[in-house]
Amino acid sequence: MTIKTRFAPSPTGHLHVGNIRTALHNWMFAKKEGGTFLLRLDDTDAERSKEEYVDAIRADLAWLGLAADEEQRQSARFDRYAEHLAKLKADSRVYPAYETAQELDLKRKIQLGRGKPPIYDRAALDLTAEQVSAYEAEGRKPHWRFKLDHGTPITWTDLIRGDQNFDPALLSDPVILREDGSWLYMLPSAIDDIEMGITHVVRGEDHVANTAVQIQMFHALGAQAPEFAHEALLVGTEGKLSKRLGSLGVSSFREKNIEPQAIVALLARIGTSDPVEPVADVEQLIATFDFARFGRAPARFDDEELAQLNQKIVHLLDYEDVKDRLPEAMTAEAWAVIRPNLHDMGDVDQWWQVVTGPISAPEFSAEDRGFLAIARGKMEVLEASSDLWKELTGALKEETGRKGRPLFMPLRLALTGLDHGPDMNILLPLIGRDTALARLTEAS
Ligand code: GLU
Repeated sequence: MTIKTRFAPSPTGHLHVGNIRTALHNWMFAKKEGGTFLLRLDDTDAERSKEEYVDAIRADLAWLGLAADEEQRQSARFDRYAEHLAKLKADSRVYPAYETAQELDLKRKIQLGRGKPPIYDRAALDLTAEQVSAYEAEGRKPHWRFKLDHGTPITWTDLIRGDQNFDPALLSDPVILREDGSWLYMLPSAIDDIEMGITHVVRGEDHVANTAVQIQMFHALGAQAPEFAHEALLVGTEGKLSKRLGSLGVSSFREKNIEPQAIVALLARIGTSDPVEPVADVEQLIATFDFARFGRAPARFDDEELAQLNQKIVHLLDYEDVKDRLPEAMTAEAWAVIRPNLHDMGDVDQWWQVVTGPISAPEFSAEDRGFLAIARGKMEVLEASSDLWKELTGALKEETGRKGRPLFMPLRLALTGLDHGPDMNILLPLIGRDTALARLTEAS
């Protein structure tokens, strides 16, 4: 069996971190199994679906490295859905209903008021031909419901949640087609999963009850249900499903200079029994991917954890990985010197400016200025190719008797404008003798 997963966002907005996590797990599982990862755009809602979101979804997945092997759109498949609906009508697995939204709402309120679960009462099944004609004469159009088989309990073994059991009598027959002929999510999704050969449906646990319904749909459509893995939801550090997480997506990560590898490393592991680790090579994460390691408790997303992971990942990136994002003149050697000082890639320019200038050094005391003038004299006679820092400090130590911080700090401040940064041994050759000389002149 060739494994095939799908990520099925509705292009009615940008992907948020929860969607990204679902996409990642579908992608990782497909890659691990040598299968196919499908991007299915659930764009049945013509009014809310926007082309700009379709483009943004593709771009976000590409940036994360989760490119789809195949793409499908539900809006191109309405004929297929209509064909299946016709068969379900012939099999009496769907029925028309005429209640208005207000009528349904009222029914629900009455049920809730009596302490009963708000399950659709199937009144539409009892309509006489006269009542139907009367509705039609009024100009009412039916919506269509899928008729659950109350005689067949619904069970499946979820790859994350284990054995699941649902009594179909405790579920409402879902509306599948609206009065205006537009499709709701349930049936098209099941039809697509069948016709596109989906073997594993991986999605959030908010879809568990939908799965119960869709399992009966798969059977009514004459197919076997795929395997299911419902992952626990993603929550913020406050432990709740937050609005903030719902608006956190690739654009905000990019603004904060978060690397795609950091997002992938974090989302691959939170909520599982494997530790979150700075792994920049996704193949390593794929190798350990296993639904059996997913927990039932919500996965906690922590910005601070992401920022720290991001820093560690940046420190692992090779020159080749980042070359295109570095200042043009910055060499592999310079990258190696600067890299350990970065919190994120946004710091690169600042450190590159320390090398190329201009820098602004502080005002020095008269004594330090005297010291720096001596340093300037020493530098003048050193050769560019020599071990600059060692020779400079060695000569100064001998002549001035300074050592430790009083020796090093005025030099660092004069040469970089900062009291911290890369080892001067490796930084000074990058700055170069001529620039160093000019900076010492300026400071003294
Ligand atoms: N379009 C649905 C959603 O975004 C897809 C759910 C599914 O994976 O089946 O919730």
